[in-house]
Amino acid sequence: MPNEQDVTVAKCAGFCPGVKRAIDRVLELEASGKKPVYTIGPLIHNKQVTDQLNAKQISAINHPREAADKSGVLVIRAHGITPSFQQEVESSGMEVVDATCPLVKHAQNIISQFAAQGYHTVIVGDADHAEVVGLMGYTQGNGTVVSGPEEAKELPFFDKVNVVSQTTQKESVFYETAEEVKKHAAECKISNTICQPTKDRQKETIEQAQNADLVIVVGGKHSANTARLALLCKGLSHAVQHVETEEELEEGPILHAKKIFITAGASTPGWVIDRVAARVKAIRKQ
Ligand code: SF4
Repeated sequence: MPNEQDVTVAKCAGFCPGVKRAIDRVLELEASGKKPVYTIGPLIHNKQVTDQLNAKQISAINHPREAADKSGVLVIRAHGITPSFQQEVESSGMEVVDATCPLVKHAQNIISQFAAQGYHTVIVGDADHAEVVGLMGYTQGNGTVVSGPEEAKELPFFDKVNVVSQTTQKESVFYETAEEVKKHAAECKISNTICQPTKDRQKETIEQAQNADLVIVVGGKHSANTARLALLCKGLSHAVQHVETEEELEEGPILHAKKIFITAGASTPGWVIDRVAARVKAIRKQ
């Protein structure tokens, strides 16, 4: 009979400090009577949280012109936006609260500093991700996004390049890509802008997942950081289940695994992780 003691929940699972800060800020605004609250794009990619926020008149829009009630507050989410869009948002006449994560701001500042000195910026990340779209705005029109070393092989030759990373990038992918970029530049600066919470999460995941027979990754199917975490685990453990809620758990592998490791993306709320962990333990007690 499986032992429920062999179920470990990651210490780093769940909201990262940047996402938590943005959600707390929005909830504080709502609680202080500032309604409606509009976020520029979804605050996080997690349906359970988005449903709760919508119930409190906190909703996502793409542009200030979409705000039905101009007396509401506009919140810039943790991912940040481009400087030109920031200007547009700030000149909309609505109250604006900037909840850009300080660690994303750090990446934006590094890009700005080097761009001002004529460096081409290469961002290692997902070109369509909101954070990367925002970071590109700081390159002074002199930037390229590559997803990894293969895409970096297609880069032209530059005089000066600054390589930065999406904050949630896998560290090995970042350094392998930076090595390739070096071959395409006379001078290459490497600015590892992967945030510390992501580094901690990756380190813990690598240590725990390789000792587990089954890893359960909890988080939104549309969350880029959860999908990347699931991919990382697939390379480390025999079996991986990526679930949004406890209802999607597959019981058979849970019953047969000796050691189970449960982890979650940066946009997964603690209560969802707790419910998945409780269900896993209940299945193993059957
Ligand atoms: S993943 Fe890192 S940089 Fe991004 S919001 Fe979270 S703490 Fe900030």
